[in-house]
Amino acid sequence: MRSSARTLRRPAELVGAGLAPPERLGELERVAARYAVAISPALAELIDPADPQDPIARQFVPDPAELTVAAEERADPIGDDTKSPVAGIVHRYPDRVLLKLVHVCPVYCRFCFRREMVGPGGRPALTPAELASALAYIRERPAIWEVILTGGDPLVLSARRLRAVVHDLAAIAHVKIIRVHTRMPVAEPARVTRDLVRALKAADKATYVVLHINHPRELTAAARAACASFIDAGIPMLSQSVLLRGVNDDPATLGALMRALVEARIKPYYLHQGDLAPGTAHLRTSISDGQDLMRSLRGRYSGLCQPTYVLDIPGGAGKVPVGPSYLADGGAVAGALEVIDCVGRRHAYPSAGSCQADAVRPHLPPVKR
Ligand code: SF4
Repeated sequence: MRSSARTLRRPAELVGAGLAPPERLGELERVAARYAVAISPALAELIDPADPQDPIARQFVPDPAELTVAAEERADPIGDDTKSPVAGIVHRYPDRVLLKLVHVCPVYCRFCFRREMVGPGGRPALTPAELASALAYIRERPAIWEVILTGGDPLVLSARRLRAVVHDLAAIAHVKIIRVHTRMPVAEPARVTRDLVRALKAADKATYVVLHINHPRELTAAARAACASFIDAGIPMLSQSVLLRGVNDDPATLGALMRALVEARIKPYYLHQGDLAPGTAHLRTSISDGQDLMRSLRGRYSGLCQPTYVLDIPGGAGKVPVGPSYLADGGAVAGALEVIDCVGRRHAYPSAGSCQADAVRPHLPPVKR
């Protein structure tokens, strides 16, 4: 494992830190000219340079495969722009909006679904006037119950600026939930200070923090301590992971990740099918592989360790669960079903009508006349 004192942003720095061999410098530079690169010291330290398949390196060290764009891939894979009525807002569902304050992150993930928007060459942060318009949009719509701060990573902002945004949101009576999506506790745990944690809290509102994490090694002691500082302050935590080929697409790694999260008091929330972002085909799995992995989790791990496997429908139609079904048609009897257990055995289950007729009525006392 190597450590560096500061975030590595240039290909020559990655080579200098031993995260890629010198002969790869040219290809790293070609990718870096197209997509943002940043590896924080905390994550660089987790990479084993002797392992060409290292799952942390695979998430952050550029790969020339990123320059090959598959026919089905698109610049805005989940359709943020089609659902953006004003700058900074994505309004896809009636009761919640995304509020994208910034488009920079402490690290840049090679599979990022917003890779055409984030990074130093990406979209700028909201101006004060744009932020005022975004807040006015939320204020004028009583149906908006939840505001999700995302980006980029909103926790790159100072505690002072976050406090101001949370204060403005908290002043809107119909906004009850403030949800913050971040990679900061694993990427730069030291940035999660007491001041920053306090900045996210607002009287009479519930704040949730959703950690983005893909491999159990990311949950270091420092990352766990950063998460504990949210939870101990009364901010519940959930997690989001992306299913990534060569990173977490095996039952043991995925199970270890979910258990590590639950042990850290973080409830696994979503496991995402990889979005159709440009140049990410080498990191995506098939949905049927994802369903097999979900079956393996269901059979072996506590219910607390079960995330919902979801797909963001390309184009902006929203998120839907795509996990395996445990019900099958029961065959000859109309309406009957089969239930499939965790090891694949099938069990007959009567239809609703026959359930009443066969299971309940025999136990009723005879009708007195
Ligand atoms: S932290 Fe999120 S927004 Fe930033 S590069 Fe990674 S996936 Fe993209």
